[in-house]
Amino acid sequence: MKKLEQLYEGKAKKVFKTDDPNAYIVEYKDDATAFNGLKKGTIAEKGIINNKVSNHLMKMLEGHGVPTHVIEQISDRETVVKKVSIVPIEVIVRNIAAGSLSKRLGIPEGTKLAKTVLEYSYKDDALGDPMINDYHVFAMELATPQELKTIADYAFKINEILAAYLKDLNIELIDFKLEFGKTPDGKIILADEISPDTCRFWDSTTGEKLDKDRFRRDMGGVEGAYHEILKRLLGE
Ligand code: UDP
Repeated sequence: MKKLEQLYEGKAKKVFKTDDPNAYIVEYKDDATAFNGLKKGTIAEKGIINNKVSNHLMKMLEGHGVPTHVIEQISDRETVVKKVSIVPIEVIVRNIAAGSLSKRLGIPEGTKLAKTVLEYSYKDDALGDPMINDYHVFAMELATPQELKTIADYAFKINEILAAYLKDLNIELIDFKLEFGKTPDGKIILADEISPDTCRFWDSTTGEKLDKDRFRRDMGGVEGAYHEILKRLLGE
């Protein structure tokens, strides 16, 4: 497979065309941003770790019947993925209160939610990814009712599988963000990444944060936390 011109550069990844019209190459960077790009930095080897962790988790999910965009990892930082058009909705699943939910609703961080919460945000940096509901999704034609049902069903299924998988590694899945894509033949599949950048992972015993909150909140030990996740998931 030949890597052709760069299509897009995001905050954490670059996307390249390839000589296969149905495939892109994504390249994971060490750049880190938070608070809608206000805070910038780098996390050493983050790109390598997120590439490996995301591929590992997506392969695990594929094994449980969740279709994903992953085709194959071709280097430390690069993965061949299926070409999709990204549905411009950030799908957030929450098991335990943290972050913006705690702030908005006054629920202390770490409170177990009586029911899993599903949230949507409109993927638009200029607007700061505002929270929306299903009515907004249909009013803006971001997805059809059938597509959104598929997305929500996958989001809950992924939560069940991922939380159980991580529990065995002594990791609590607090919350996470997913993005979905549409293949040229109209199928909804899981896209983007699943990594310490996009999930909150807490050590089940100590409650220690093992994710990007260490960067967001200047807690130190950022690289160590990413390496700990790599070690627990892939044994590296
Ligand atoms: N998240 C993300 N990208 C975003 C916003 C949130 O990956 O642009 C993830 C975040 O890492 C966390 C979950 O979604 O695991 C919920 O984030 P929250 O709404 O609490 O926002 P935050 O406090 O991170 O700003």
